[in-house]
Amino acid sequence: MERLRGRSASGGIVFGKIAFYHRDDQDVKKRKVGNPELELQRYHYAKEVSGRELDDLYEREVKNIGVDHADIFMIHRLLLDDDRFVSDIESTIMKENYSADYAVHFASNKIASELGRVEDEYMRARTADIKDVSRRLIRHIQNTTEQELVFRSNSILCCFDLEPSETIRLDKSKVKAICTCYGSTTSHSSIISRTLNIPGIVGLGRALTEDYDGHEAIVDGYAGVLYIDPDPVTRRRMLEKREEEGRKRELLLRLRGRRNITLDGSEIELYANINGLIDMKYVTENDAGGIGLLRSEFLYLQNDDYPDEELQFFTYRRVLELMEGKRVIVRTFDMGLDKNPDYEVEEELNPAMGMRSIRVCFENPEILHSQLRALYRASVYGRLAIMIPMIVDPEEIQHVKRMIRKVWDELDSEGIKYDQNVELGIMIETPAAVMLSDELAREVDFFNVGTNDLEQYSLAIDRHDSRLERFCRPHHIAVLRMIKMAADSVHRYGKWIGICGELAANPDFTETFLAMDVDMLSVSPMIILQMRRRIRSLNLTDKEQLLVDMGVVRSYEKNKYKLFG
Ligand code: PEP
Ligand code: MG
Repeated sequence: MERLRGRSASGGIVFGKIAFYHRDDQDVKKRKVGNPELELQRYHYAKEVSGRELDDLYEREVKNIGVDHADIFMIHRLLLDDDRFVSDIESTIMKENYSADYAVHFASNKIASELGRVEDEYMRARTADIKDVSRRLIRHIQNTTEQELVFRSNSILCCFDLEPSETIRLDKSKVKAICTCYGSTTSHSSIISRTLNIPGIVGLGRALTEDYDGHEAIVDGYAGVLYIDPDPVTRRRMLEKREEEGRKRELLLRLRGRRNITLDGSEIELYANINGLIDMKYVTENDAGGIGLLRSEFLYLQNDDYPDEELQFFTYRRVLELMEGKRVIVRTFDMGLDKNPDYEVEEELNPAMGMRSIRVCFENPEILHSQLRALYRASVYGRLAIMIPMIVDPEEIQHVKRMIRKVWDELDSEGIKYDQNVELGIMIETPAAVMLSDELAREVDFFNVGTNDLEQYSLAIDRHDSRLERFCRPHHIAVLRMIKMAADSVHRYGKWIGICGELAANPDFTETFLAMDVDMLSVSPMIILQMRRRIRSLNLTDKEQLLVDMGVVRSYEKNKYKLFG
């Protein structure tokens, strides 16, 4: 028996036979041409046909897998029309006289290699999408047919990587699991396989070779392990695990539509953190009460310039519509630190302390202005809340409010409808914001604690430096006390507070946050139901005592984190 370990892309246990899939390589030669105008026409023709194909796929898959999941084809449509992609291709043809297929191949490789260097895993995973779009274009330029994906029944599809449009074309009655050598858990293929409930493992490495084609195997999608030629003991163990996991998921799913309420009757909202439209499927599937954090920066990381008002408006509007009246908190661009677009060229001496978030927007007001316009225009399509990151002073909020008023005046004069009651909130992620939380609470409708940065700035620990992991105590009493202080301040003014940093998802602290009367926890959509189960199992008989025991109030010794010994 061979045991290969990767990362779980989608849960589930499957017994089957390995079918190794090799994508036919497209034959693209680096070729100069005598008539670039003709090549340009070939490219435009291929682009038009690809566009129609993607529109049709979108329409078809909306019916098959639902509007949220079919969005991938909408995204491919946007990539196909992407200004930079198009102009790179056109200039390679017209200025350098290369053939149309080579120009597409060259431009997509360039963009893919740039995306591949981005730190953000989600963005890196978009390389698969640009390659997918490019293959489609080249197929139409070369006038070749789509590779058939025929597998015998009960196949465990293994391959180097899988593109989203390949994943969607798989015959799900035959392909029972997907295992890839490369790929990431946030790639669209992984996302689609989760959506379609096909167990999957990514990152198995080159140990997974086509020599295994036809071998018996078991996929443990929960643990990210592939067993090849499994022995009888492993078979029995996996059968038992499958039954057990099935029972657990059944129980979790029964929690949809239920309240996030403790045995003693304390209730809390459970919202989802998302990066964009593509995550919306998880939000509805897992019954999130709202969106607690839409990291809007994903919009500019995807583009080669700041996204224009229309693209932003489209995204915010779609999210609001899909949430059907539930609260959607959009955080204005939190750029800087590790989230720098390519066109932000200035090197920072110390990015964590540098030109970040709202400061960038104050320096370049047109960025925030177009975002606020897009947000207010979208506000009539649902229940929008706007959140400003990295606030350290009430004056900053007053300045944002002035900018909002200007946007209102413009929209009024243009006769565009918007909602003036959109809630305005801030991230509490600096010690300064905690210390001034009383003054800040007067200015806004809500607080949302960003524990990832609050830990970084209060414990003086660079959140990206893995050497410091040992010293990073997210549940450091100082951090817990700061959250309590912010909660008390905002509640004094009858306003509410959420937590959207990673600490919100730590089940060891759910009880503590409830005892602090935190109103909302926002976590990754996939763990909402587990959090709901946790909340429903708690019984907070004495909140005050619990806070004392946790060291949040008075007793420090009781919950002191032991760094040494
Ligand atoms: C945080 O700082 O906790 C947070 C939610 O924001 P980000 O991780 O995007 O900085
Ligand atoms: Mg932050």
